[in-house]
Parts: sequence; C-alpha cells; structure tokens
Amino acid sequence: MVPRGALRAPPVAAVEVHVNTAIIRQLNVSRVFHALREHPGSSQRELVRFTGLDRATVSTVVAQLEGEDLVERIPKPSRGRAGRPEKALRLSETGGWFVGVRLDPRELHIVATTVDARPLAIRQELGSSDVTVAVRRVGAIVCELAASHDVTLDHILGVGVGVAGLMDRDGRLALGPNLGWHDVPILDLLRAELPVPVYADNDTKAAALAETLFGSCRDVLDFVLVIGHAGIGSALYQGGMLQRGWRGYAGELGHVKVVPGGRACGCGGRGCLEAYASENAILARMAEGGRSCADLREAARLAEQGDAVAREVLEDAGAKLGTVLATVLNLTNPHRIVLGGGLAQVADTLLPALKRVIARDALGLASEGVAVKVSSLGEEAVAMGGVALAMEGFLSLPSWLSGGHFRLRRNGAASRSKEAAEVRPEGS
Ligand SMILES: [Zn+2]
Repeated sequence: MVPRGALRAPPVAAVEVHVNTAIIRQLNVSRVFHALREHPGSSQRELVRFTGLDRATVSTVVAQLEGEDLVERIPKPSRGRAGRPEKALRLSETGGWFVGVRLDPRELHIVATTVDARPLAIRQELGSSDVTVAVRRVGAIVCELAASHDVTLDHILGVGVGVAGLMDRDGRLALGPNLGWHDVPILDLLRAELPVPVYADNDTKAAALAETLFGSCRDVLDFVLVIGHAGIGSALYQGGMLQRGWRGYAGELGHVKVVPGGRACGCGGRGCLEAYASENAILARMAEGGRSCADLREAARLAEQGDAVAREVLEDAGAKLGTVLATVLNLTNPHRIVLGGGLAQVADTLLPALKRVIARDALGLASEGVAVKVSSLGEEAVAMGGVALAMEGFLSLPSWLSGGHFRLRRNGAASRSKEAAEVRPEGS
C-alpha cells in the first residue's frame, strides 16, 4: 500500500521551494495526524519513517497535537532493545468528535466518530423537501447525539455534510434535481444552525474523499467512485486529485443520456442514467412491474430469490451503468471503479451485467486491469464522506499555523452553543 502521506502531499523538499513556511507547517500537521490515524501506537521514530519528515519536525507537531489533547502517549511493548523505553503515540479517544451527515431528500444519515474516524453513533432520520426543515433537523440531531453521549458541542471538531445535488465552489447548492432545491446557500444555512465548524460538498465528492482516507481507494491515485441513492453521482480522481471542473459541477454521471427521449428525470431531461439506475428509479420500475419494494435491500432479496422482474430491472440498471462507465474508462483510464451507497446493496445482481457491458464496450487497453469493486464503506459512504470533510477541514484550520489559537476557538464554540440552544425553536 502507498503510505497516505505520499498520496496527499508532494515531497517536502518540493513544497519548500514553492510555498511559504506556514503552509508547510499545516501540511506537516496533516501528515503526522494521518500517520497516527493509520498507524496507532507508533513511536516518534516510526512517525519519522511514515511521514518522511525530520525528527525535530515530528517532535514539534506531536507536541502541538498533544497540546490540543488530540494525541496521547501509551507504554510501547518492549522489543528487548537497550536504552530508554519508547512511548507509543495514538490519537486520543477523548480528543473530540467528527460528525458526518448525508443530506438526502428521503433520509438523513448522521454518524459521529472519534478523532480517528471510528464510528461511535449512527442516526437515520426522515429527510425533508423543505430546505429549512432539513437543515434544522440536522442541527437538532447533532445536538441530541452530543447530549445523549454527555458531550458538549465544543467537543465537536467539525461537521461535514454531503449534499445530494450540484454544489458550487462556495458551498451553494446550485441545483438539487431530487430535492427540488435551486440556488440555496446550504453551507451558510448549516453554519447558522450549528455553532461548530461546518463543511459541505456534493455527496459523491465527499464520499470519494472518505474512500481515499478510510475506504477502498487508499492505495490508488486514479479512480472513479459512483454513488447511487435518490440520484447517481460520480467523483473522478486523477493523480490523487479530485477533478471538479470549471465551476465545480464535474461528475454528474447520473444525467448522461442512455435512452434518447426515454424516462423522465428529476433534472427535467429525459433518458438519463439516473432515470434507470438510481434507487428511486429502480424502486419505481419494480413497482411498474408489480413488485412494491420499500427499499433496495428488498429488491436485492427478490432478485436473489430469482424473481424475474427484480432481475430484469437490476440487470438493466447494471448494463446502463456499464455503458456509461465504458465511456468513462475510455476517457479517463482509471485504475479502479468503486460503487457505493444504495448501489452497494444491489451489487450482487447489478455487477455481473455491468462488467459484461464494460468488457464489450470499453477499449481493451483502457479497461485492462481495472478492478470494479463495491465500496468498503457501503451504505454509509456519504456520511463517512462528511466525516472526511470535517477531518480535512479541521486539519486545514488557520489555527494550526500558530499553535494555541485553536483551543481559544473551541472555548468560543462552547459559549456560542449555549446561545444556539436557547434560540432553537421547540420541535425543530
Ligand atoms: Zn437527468
């Protein structure tokens, strides 16, 4: 496996030439943090090896992380070496929470994790077609989760939200085809609701970040992630970098036309992939065939039992997804294709058809050696994407540039959280 630090940042020597020392300091914090997350129980000497940084830098960053209660020292088992026993370091279990949210028209998934992204609590609630209600509900659930674990809001290091829709680079939801929302300042609304650092991105782009940090793409630089829930989105990484496009709207795989003039889509167009292979479309097509299913799990169960309608709908969804992915393969030559979200639940039936079409339609050289996998983050890929957004946002805070400011900010959040609790309307 390629070490995470090697994937996420250019070599230190190269960085020193082009950027100022403050940014290098921030990158160093990120490197040491991720090395500790991936190798808990490391000694400082091992961190030097994992990060490629020098001893003095590792020591400074560890001291800074310890000062923020994010790292703790534990006895390291002796290997019979002479001299002073080494101390093992790990991210502190009580250092804080990251919270990840999937904001979807049908449901809200919220996961609270430790600093090293181990899930502590997961909540699933109904979504809302009213943006104000949905955002308030997210705020209320985060507060309830914290309260039920005897945790104050200042313990939350960041909340990341994956939104099902086209997000621009400033955190505005330009269009939510399945939400019925247009031009909503979703990040501002979320920040007004939650007195903690909040980050937001398109749901699939958030999930792709989670794949690079904790999921199926930690060891590859070039991959395509396809997430299917109410709609279908994709995220493309090339050379370890997410491709956002000019205004940030790249990756709308769900609106590639697969049947000219075909089924109506939430975007206003016809014949989009999403109208055949999204969760909503699969359930609608099942119902048209006389099979009423509550969710994709039920559709998958019917297909496993040999139900002809379920098999036909899922195999057709897989074939149409395969047609679009064959083009993506020809255009971008990824190393891996990963399916997540609801698509992971129906992968057993969908994948064989998808792979057959890719083998038939993609250029041999572009698809040779490309693995098509189901995300190891499964159904919670987007909520874990929120956790990844929060983690990366936290590690990018300007406070890291001059130690000590971060703690002041956390104390500020604690006092603001009281005001927010006082003004929060009942039942919201
Ligand atoms: Zn569409």
